[in-house]
Amino acid sequence: MKQHFWQGMRVPYVTAWTAEARPQPVIKRIVGRGGEGIGYEDEHPVTDRRHEALWVRSGLAPGVGQPDFRRLNTHRQKRAMRYNLCQVCSAPAEGAGGDERTLHLLGATEPIAEGETTAAPPLHAQCAVESIENCRPLGRGWAAALVDYSPLWGVAGVVYDRVTLQPLPRPGRRPGELEHVHVGDERIRWTLASFTVISLHGVTAVSRDQLYEMAQAESRRARTAEPSGAA
Ligand SMILES: [Zn+2]
Repeated sequence: MKQHFWQGMRVPYVTAWTAEARPQPVIKRIVGRGGEGIGYEDEHPVTDRRHEALWVRSGLAPGVGQPDFRRLNTHRQKRAMRYNLCQVCSAPAEGAGGDERTLHLLGATEPIAEGETTAAPPLHAQCAVESIENCRPLGRGWAAALVDYSPLWGVAGVVYDRVTLQPLPRPGRRPGELEHVHVGDERIRWTLASFTVISLHGVTAVSRDQLYEMAQAESRRARTAEPSGAA
C-alpha cells in the first residue's frame, strides 16, 4: 500500500480523501432475511450489507483530492479491523509490544476500560507517537493500551426511527457522533453503519513514557530485521 503525504506529513491509511465521497441513496423500509429494517432501492447484497446492517456508500481513491483528517474511509477502516492492520501505515499491527498483543490509541480523558468498544483500528508504537504529535484532537487527551484480543463487537452508525425513517434523536451526544450497535442488537437492521466496532480485552494501560520506549524498541527491532548490507 502506497504511503501518501500531505503538507509534509504522512496521511494515515484509514483517512478519507475528498474524491471518495459518494451521494447517499434514499433510505427505504425493506423486509429482509432477518425481518424489517432499512435498505436501499438498488441495494447490493455484498457491498451494502454486512452484519445485517445497511452500510454507507463510499468510493476508494486514496491520494486523490485532499485528505479529510476528521473522517475515515469505511472500506479501509473495515479492512484494517478485519486483518489487524495499522491504521496509519497499513502494515500488520501485531508486535507493537514485542509480543502478540496489539496497541490501541483512543482520544480519551480516561484510561481504556476492559471490554471497551472502539471503531479505531490498532497501530504501531511509532505510528502512535507520530499521531499524538500531529493529530490535533489527540492533544485534548488520549489513552493507550496493549490488548490481548479484540473480537468483532458490532458497527458504528446511525440508528433510524422505524416509523419516520429519520435518524433517532440521541440526547447527550454530539452531532455526528456515531452509536455503537452490537451485532446481536435487533436495532442493527435499522442502523446505517459506517464502521466496524471491536471490543478490547486483556487491556494493559500504556503510559506516555512507556509508549515512547515501545516506539524506540520497535525502531531497533525494525533495524535488526533489515538484511545486512541494506542501505
Ligand atoms: Zn504503523
